[in-house]
Order: sequence, then C-alpha cells, then structure tokens
Amino acid sequence: MAGTLAGTDSWFANPTSKVSSHFGVGKNGEIHQYVDLKNPAWANGGVNKPAWPLLILGVNPNYYTVSIEHEGNSGDVMPEAQYQATLALHRWLVGTLGIPVTRDNIIGHYRIDSVNKSNCPGTGFPWDRLFKDLQEGSDVLKVAVLLYTKDDFWAGVDVASKNGNCAVFVRGGDLSVPAEAMTAKQLIVVGGGKTKHPNEILLSGKDKYDTAAAVAKYLGGN
Ligand SMILES: [Zn+2]
Repeated sequence: MAGTLAGTDSWFANPTSKVSSHFGVGKNGEIHQYVDLKNPAWANGGVNKPAWPLLILGVNPNYYTVSIEHEGNSGDVMPEAQYQATLALHRWLVGTLGIPVTRDNIIGHYRIDSVNKSNCPGTGFPWDRLFKDLQEGSDVLKVAVLLYTKDDFWAGVDVASKNGNCAVFVRGGDLSVPAEAMTAKQLIVVGGGKTKHPNEILLSGKDKYDTAAAVAKYLGGN
C-alpha cells in the first residue's frame, strides 16, 4: 500500500483516484475486500518491462489477475497477524479459483511493471515462507506426473492414483517441462528423459514396452 489500510480505504473509495485492488490486508490481520472477484480491479494495468511468462500481450492484466495490497511500506517486516491473514487469503483464492501454487501464478506487481512498481511488494515481503506454507497446504503439487505422449496416459493415471490423484501433465510433442511441474516436490516422468527436477523418478525405457514394465514395477511396489 505504501501507506495505511485506512488511507487505502479512503483512496480507493474516491472515484478520482482511479485505483483499486480486490483485497487489502492490514498489519493487524484485517482483510478488506474492495472489488468483487467477478470484476477486474484497477491495479495492474500498466505493463512496463515485464518479467512474467504468463503475461498475455495486448490484454490488460487487470482482466486476468486478482490483486492484494498489504498495509505498510517497502522494507517493513510483516507482522505475524498480517502474515497469517494473507496466507489464509491466498489459500482461499488458490482453492476457490484453482490457482496453481507456483512462482508464475502468484507474483509481485513488479513482475508486470519492473520500472515503476519495483518496490511492490516491498523488500520485506515473505515470499519463501508464503510458498512453503501454501505448498504444504495443497496436495496438488506434492507430486506431479509428466507424460510426453498421450499413449502413456493410462499408465500416467495409474501412477497419479497411487499418489493420491496428483497433477498429471501431458506434453504432446513439446519436450519442455511446465513450470508448475517443476515446483512439485516430486516429479515422476513416464516415458521421457531426465529433467532438471531435483527429486524425480524416471519410469522410462528404451521403448514403450520397457516403459510399461517400469510403470508396472513402480505400481507393484506398494
Ligand atoms: Zn502494486
């Protein structure tokens, strides 16, 4: 907010300000909602030297982002009450809107405008703690299964159900590894080569029969 919650309340309520966000989180843990999730807020419209792979060029980012402002100034250490409130808000948004917990889906304003918003959020924002807590609270990305061909789909589903129906990524002909899959705590690759994931299991052989055997062995290892 580069200011107080009360100041933000009144500035957003003033139509001449032409600014708004969906939420504001106070240092005391209060959460204020200013804009319905059905509507875009007036927060992220300016794009200037962005560093965000999910940016849709030519479309105002306000149309596909949810914005949260935090009371305080850059460099403030976030009080515990404010941290717990924003963690709860993030969890609720992730669950309600189905947002993957990745560093490309939950971002700072500076990723959209690195010139004028380089301090948004400020240097005290606890990114690492937030992601750690969000990932622990979500079972989607504890394990991800990556398939390089649709032929392996049912094998992938079996591997996923063994892991509590985790996320399955199917790459039809595209050999890159999706960012979401890389953020999973464990990545299981069916029918493909090694990735750079630090904790991966390769269920692959030299042909589809070898791969099927590797999958069967993995599934049998209950
Ligand atoms: Zn901002």
